[in-house]
Amino acid sequence: MPEGRSLEYVPADHPYMLEAKKAREECAGDPLFPNGAILVRDGQVMVRAGNGYNQGSQTVHVCPRVVQECPSGTGYDLCPLHDHDGHAEAMLMKVATEQGINVHGADVYMYGHWWCCEPCWTKMIEVGVARVFVTDDAHERFSRDRVYAETFKSSLRSVYVSGALTNLPADKVQTHKAYYEGIARVCQSMGIQAYVPHLHTDPEQHPQVSVREVFDYDTEKIAAMDAIVADVTYPSLGTGGELMIAYHAKKPLVLLSERGVPVSRFALGNPAVVYHLEYEDYFEALRRLPNILRQL
Ligand SMILES: [Zn+2]
Ligand SMILES: [Zn+2]
Repeated sequence: MPEGRSLEYVPADHPYMLEAKKAREECAGDPLFPNGAILVRDGQVMVRAGNGYNQGSQTVHVCPRVVQECPSGTGYDLCPLHDHDGHAEAMLMKVATEQGINVHGADVYMYGHWWCCEPCWTKMIEVGVARVFVTDDAHERFSRDRVYAETFKSSLRSVYVSGALTNLPADKVQTHKAYYEGIARVCQSMGIQAYVPHLHTDPEQHPQVSVREVFDYDTEKIAAMDAIVADVTYPSLGTGGELMIAYHAKKPLVLLSERGVPVSRFALGNPAVVYHLEYEDYFEALRRLPNILRQL
């Protein structure tokens, strides 16, 4: 908190707070931690804004801060949506400047958060904001756990697990297959059904299945699933094809790869990719995956 500054508190049903709440609903582009703010001067609402670059609500965004479990107030640099410039207070100042509105002596009412970060204070002090109000129960109402409990509801019912099989290095065949099955268990623990191709059409276990059947079966399965989790550590023609099916079927695609392993830029550039997680080992991949899935 900057010297000589403190937050002011009003009840959540204060008329200006209700306006800020409306700004949160209408202007916040951040689906995970929405925050709205208004600027009031001489009893008039001058500007309204929300966090997340004013994209409008319901933007699909998998936040790396959540995936990496960054403590409150840290890791903003990881996320373009949650960077300081996208905070509601900063957005409010930006909109005011664009509209040529004099902010000096005005008050800010904020609904969705219980504090302001340092860069936001700096921005508001610079332009002469007088007071900053939050709700008198903001600490509880907008605690991280409480907001996340509301916004972290995975909408996925099923996931297709994609990854190299045929050309896996010989010493990786068993561990990598076990890892694919681990991905399925992570999904199932979240109530998400998972389809693991090698359990159905593995070239060694199920040699009687014809190549055309494999193609038809896997293609059909992807189309029926809500999302695809693909490990792209080892190049695979099959996985590459599945990534393209995901693209055409507009299915969210989560890419996983071992840190330091180069991944095809064609795969990384697929617009269906909602997140690319680089992991140190299988354990980290499986530990972080729920943090991604619950944002989808
Ligand atoms: Zn973020
Ligand atoms: Zn801030």
